[in-house]
Amino acid sequence: MGFYDEIEIEDMVWDEAKGVFHYPCPCGDRFEITRKQLANGEDIATCPSCSLIIRVIFDMLDFEDEEDDEEEEASGEEAEESSEDDSADEKFEDAVENLNVDLTNRLVVTQA
Ligand SMILES: [Zn+2]
Repeated sequence: MGFYDEIEIEDMVWDEAKGVFHYPCPCGDRFEITRKQLANGEDIATCPSCSLIIRVIFDMLDFEDEEDDEEEEASGEEAEESSEDDSADEKFEDAVENLNVDLTNRLVVTQA
């Protein structure tokens, strides 16, 4: 795959409104890559007006962290799920305790 150029992420411009990094393309438009793409490990910024592409040089770990923060805010489900896991363990332990109590009671009843 031939890249028009390799650009460091620091040299690209962050467009907060669109959620993309962009860099001027020689055709007059601009290369774009979303932060989500970066978080997914994609490093190819494309120009919507021509066929040129550039390779973005960046540290994927930087964007993984930011993406995690966004997802927690967006869905809020992942955070809940992880806390549910904790309480699920507790519930399971409670259930086991109750089960033991049930068994003990039944045994007592059966024996009596
Ligand atoms: Zn272009």
